Amino acid sequence: MKIETIAIHAGNHTDPSTRAVVQPITLSTTFERGEDGEFPGGFSYTRAANPNRKSLENVMAQLEGGVDACAFSSGNAAGAAVFQSLKPGSHIVAPDDMYHGLKNLINSVYKDILTADYLDLSDLKAVESAIKPDTKLIWIETPSNPLLKVTDIAGICKIAHERGIIVCCDNTFATPVFQQPLTLGADLVMHATTKYLGGHSDVLGGVLITKNNDGFWERIRSVQTLSGAVPAPFDCYMAVRGIKTLPYRMRGHSANAGKIARYLESHPRVEAVFYPGLENHPLHHIAKTQMSDFGGMLSFTIRGSSDETREISNKLKLFTRATSLGGVESLIEHRASVEGPDTKTPKNLLRISVGLEYIDDLIADLEQALK
Ligand SMILES: *Cc1c(COP(=O)(O)O)cnc(C)c1O
Repeated sequence: MKIETIAIHAGNHTDPSTRAVVQPITLSTTFERGEDGEFPGGFSYTRAANPNRKSLENVMAQLEGGVDACAFSSGNAAGAAVFQSLKPGSHIVAPDDMYHGLKNLINSVYKDILTADYLDLSDLKAVESAIKPDTKLIWIETPSNPLLKVTDIAGICKIAHERGIIVCCDNTFATPVFQQPLTLGADLVMHATTKYLGGHSDVLGGVLITKNNDGFWERIRSVQTLSGAVPAPFDCYMAVRGIKTLPYRMRGHSANAGKIARYLESHPRVEAVFYPGLENHPLHHIAKTQMSDFGGMLSFTIRGSSDETREISNKLKLFTRATSLGGVESLIEHRASVEGPDTKTPKNLLRISVGLEYIDDLIADLEQALK
């Protein structure tokens, strides 16, 4: 089955008792035992498993071409489950521009338990020389935030697997519609369902998908059900509902982003545009081999100061100044102010999550703000 069909059917089934076409939300925390003490419905207690969570896990495993998935209450909780499943003393190789929330998590909560080196993963030689005897995980995020850097997933997996290292890819920006890391060799995929999967900026969540039902996956499943950072049934329902339209939304986001990237590139006030779909992107050739399209995220730098850059975002009427991404509405953010004083992000950079508004309206808005 193709991705459009999986997105609609793999997370939903007609309710056998009422024949409701959309799977209902099962709020019950507990499930009745049969006379033999077993659970005839297949569920016992909602921290362990819940029908709505199971549907979300089913659809995500199938969309990514994996064998199983674990859903969490946030993207960060999904990342934390991977870190928590590593043996104490393990070393992680991660991107220097890793999602800041996950980098903060490793550097604070796991500070005394794990070690990590952050580097530019587009440099495969640098990755090889950063590997130590206790390196157990290489974390990939591609395209990345906020400069839309691209990492060669297959290249990293080759290096990792020759040394028995696990590879987990944060696929939040690309989504399985445009990039399937498991088919490129990754062992695990992570998503913030908060972003494109939910797709409407109204539900927080995370998910991990695995290629193999191995010992490491068993540890992750234990972290999920015993630590209990699980999503509520309603949140799972919202994510499943969003996923049904994911392939069509992603095409719209990507088409709009491609047009905005080209518009900005030709604008005299714009210094540079960062979008993996542009031929002049330094890793466009890699992006082209591992992505079927380039997504809805882009950033650009202005010929001007930090204040002039912020002024442009203040003049926009359709782009809301807000963090996060992946919703139907366009958002814009001055990342340097969000990331704080020690950020390496250029102060003249704006990041856009391109929404699904009509493209001419978005470009007209940019045009008046850049005047
Ligand atoms: C948002 C995001 C996360 C974290 O997800 P939360 O739901 O906010 O915890 C992780 N990685 C990427 C790339 C993200 O954009």
